[in-house]
Amino acid sequence: MPEKGDYYGVLGVDKASSDTEIKRAFRSLARKHHPDKNPEDPEAETKFKEIQEAYAILSNPDERRKYDMFGHDRPGGSPFGSRGFQGVNISFDDLFGGGFESIFSQFFGDSTSRGSRGSDLLVRHSVPFQAAMDGMDDELEIDILRDCDGCGGSGSNSEGGARPCPSCDGRGRIDEISMVGPFRQRVRKECPPCRGSGRIVTDPCRVCKGEGRAYQAIRVKFSMHPGVVSGTRLRMRGQGEAASSHREQTGDLYIELQVEMHPWFERDGPDLLMALPLSYADLALGASVEIPHIDADKLRIKVPPGSKPGETITIMGRGLPRPKANSMRGSVTVVLKLEVPRKPTRSMRKRLNEMREEMEGELDDLEVRIKNEARSRRMG
Ligand SMILES: [Zn+2]
Ligand SMILES: [Zn+2]
Repeated sequence: MPEKGDYYGVLGVDKASSDTEIKRAFRSLARKHHPDKNPEDPEAETKFKEIQEAYAILSNPDERRKYDMFGHDRPGGSPFGSRGFQGVNISFDDLFGGGFESIFSQFFGDSTSRGSRGSDLLVRHSVPFQAAMDGMDDELEIDILRDCDGCGGSGSNSEGGARPCPSCDGRGRIDEISMVGPFRQRVRKECPPCRGSGRIVTDPCRVCKGEGRAYQAIRVKFSMHPGVVSGTRLRMRGQGEAASSHREQTGDLYIELQVEMHPWFERDGPDLLMALPLSYADLALGASVEIPHIDADKLRIKVPPGSKPGETITIMGRGLPRPKANSMRGSVTVVLKLEVPRKPTRSMRKRLNEMREEMEGELDDLEVRIKNEARSRRMG
């Protein structure tokens, strides 16, 4: 196995770097080396994991201090356990949205102190397509386990009806010290007498039955920027589930956005694609059509004379905004289709028949036409 790289070196920062500098370095490297972005490169995954490991340590003040003191050979072995660092599943979107922070913050502590911090929640929420154009302020109401209104989270309404658990001093957790080789290792566990709640309840509140938490309808407001894509996760810090112990932090709420489909546009990031069914006359003679568009201005499509089905017309700058402000909007690509009348009227049939004879006269011999078509198709 190759020598493990210095965490600061891996992120390209120095020992005096601030948390913000470390976060910025991590984000930019993680985007560059994200396996989704480098499917061809087998090294990318290893590199991505290395960057994650370095960030997991350096973004955690306690772990960073230990690393500064001992380097990779710290007492107690790898902070990630006997199997070492296994990597974190960070989606590309997380690197823009910032959702990755909580993934790393749960790395140390939570694995050994189950049930202390409140749970994170994930809610999926649909927004109209227009939100991708204009951005949007929205809100939703969710039932979330929060500190009980009836007792203020204490679990009881009477004096002395709930008191801090003496075994854990109200923390809900206990530390067990054990020896691992020559080192003392501290393992954090849920306190058994109070089952992690940090209190002993003798006269329980009627609303929450002494739990201290109850479901409440919570109204959450949030906003999304223009260019928003499906799968974006908004993180609402401290808006998740309350912890079972009154003293611990509330979890986070994540809202995963699902952008609804447009009636005719397909979307590729900021670019839009649509099909335009036209009559043979429109294609042969050219046409100019106007349709309602996402930016309130009509979309004018000029079809040149002699157009063929399958040909495309691209209109720059009328697609969706890009997440990065001040850059040009995406494009709209229109694929031309030929729409043939299912039941031509008697007079249409008569005139089409006349046209057929006239057009045959204008066109090359059939075999020549077939060969020409094949040649141009093969040239791409
Ligand atoms: Zn209560
Ligand atoms: Zn306890």
